Amino acid sequence: MSTPPTGCPYTGSCELYPRFSLKGALKIWQQRYCSHETQHQRCARYQLATSNEPVPATLLPNGEHIPTT
Ligand code: SF4
Repeated sequence: MSTPPTGCPYTGSCELYPRFSLKGALKIWQQRYCSHETQHQRCARYQLATSNEPVPATLLPNGEHIPTT
């Protein structure tokens, strides 16, 4: 488990983060949010997790949901 020196503190616990690694197309989220120095604070998942709210498994950083397969 590697946590980037900057970026989202939830990369170790976020359900979606490993899925980003699996799906090449979703890697863009990692670059735009998870690994970004400040942008991860705008992630919908980050905001829920920070508020101690349950984070839906399918919630994307932009607040939309991915279809579950
Ligand atoms: S999806 Fe959001 S909460 Fe999850 S690791 Fe990326 S920035 Fe953090």
